[in-house]
Amino acid sequence: MTKTNGEEPKMGGRMERFQRGVRKRTLLAKRKVQSITKEDVKSYLFRNAFVLLTVTAVIVGTILGFTLRPYKMSYREVKYFSFPGELLMRMLQMLVLPLIISSLVTGMAALDSKASGKMGMRAVVYYMTTTIIAVVIGIIIVIIIHPGKGTKENMHREGKIVQVTAADAFLDLIRYAPLGILFLIAGKIVEMEDMGVIGGQLAMYTVTVIVGLLIHAVIVLPLLYFLVTRKNPWVFIGGLLQALITALGTSSSSATLPITFKCLEENNGVDKRVTRFVLPVGATINMDGTALYEALAAIFIAQVNNFELNFGQIITISITATAASIGAAGIPQAGLVTMVIVLTSVGLPTDDITLIIAVDWFLDRLRTTTNVLGDSLGAGIVEHLSRHELKNRDVEMGNSVIEENEMKKPYQLIAQESETEKPMDSETKM
Ligand code: ASP
Repeated sequence: MTKTNGEEPKMGGRMERFQRGVRKRTLLAKRKVQSITKEDVKSYLFRNAFVLLTVTAVIVGTILGFTLRPYKMSYREVKYFSFPGELLMRMLQMLVLPLIISSLVTGMAALDSKASGKMGMRAVVYYMTTTIIAVVIGIIIVIIIHPGKGTKENMHREGKIVQVTAADAFLDLIRYAPLGILFLIAGKIVEMEDMGVIGGQLAMYTVTVIVGLLIHAVIVLPLLYFLVTRKNPWVFIGGLLQALITALGTSSSSATLPITFKCLEENNGVDKRVTRFVLPVGATINMDGTALYEALAAIFIAQVNNFELNFGQIITISITATAASIGAAGIPQAGLVTMVIVLTSVGLPTDDITLIIAVDWFLDRLRTTTNVLGDSLGAGIVEHLSRHELKNRDVEMGNSVIEENEMKKPYQLIAQESETEKPMDSETKM
């Protein structure tokens, strides 16, 4: 009894303090909301205009695509219609090679060999871990959901031969930008096969891939980021929105690379020495979405062939899917090509890739978005793990800040904002 008596005032005091705190915070929040002026809203919209525009483009593109579908455009008309989107793709692709080379060179130059070795090691460990987790998720999900019930006879096959004419070559010459995403998506929706052909098995397969990718992208990767850095992964992912939407629009992690750099450095303040070093490699070899997809698709093809896989074959699929994802280039539907390796490794018919082509354009977008998310969170994790080396290097090089202005990065060509607006701590001190 005496004990409770003794604790009561303490508890009461704490409660009161807590309530006072809550009241104070509510009041502050209220005042803050009241003090929001039209100007603030305007400046917020202005600051986030590009992201908002990109989101709008995806929505408008989807609506436009579905509206135009009933008009049954010819192949050539669809190609002309998607032209602005094609221009965006070409423009981004044009930036990629110089970007990868120059950023790797400057990234390595900004670090001493010991630091870059350690950072590289951490990146590789992260890539391997997440890729293997993705493959395992893919295998477990496809075995549990088992979308390949029945035979493949009632499935639809697809395969088109694309003809190139002089007009295509001419259109290649013109370069164009952002509105592209709208046309990329609308064009693809107009072009896609009738939903009717996507039978039960293929629909189940699509759902299985989506569930697998969601588990990896929404649960595993953010959790890993949180466990390592103890920071809120959703704030970090919020800063990546534009890169994620670009990945969705372009189906290419390489083409998204310039935007990924911009988001990581400008929105999330990730050290440039890390992004330059880690991102170009990540975009080419770290493809969690593709790894998950390849393992899952191979087992799906085995299921529709009523091909019983033993444990050894499942392990073979995991290993080859990991290798195939590393080997796949960051370009649209590259994963579908390297899947041949996975299928042949366990003796599955490679022709059966045509069974899943009808939905691949769509699933490719989702796995590319997962790939870009994996690379970006990886950069955040590697930066956190390498913070001591980076700081040491800062101290060592502390006196020579002058070089900073000379080191204009190639990707600033597309990063419109002025360099001076950025927070000081996001800058690399050289
Ligand atoms: N399109 C994917 C990427 O660029 C690769 C793939 O086909 O899975 O990341």
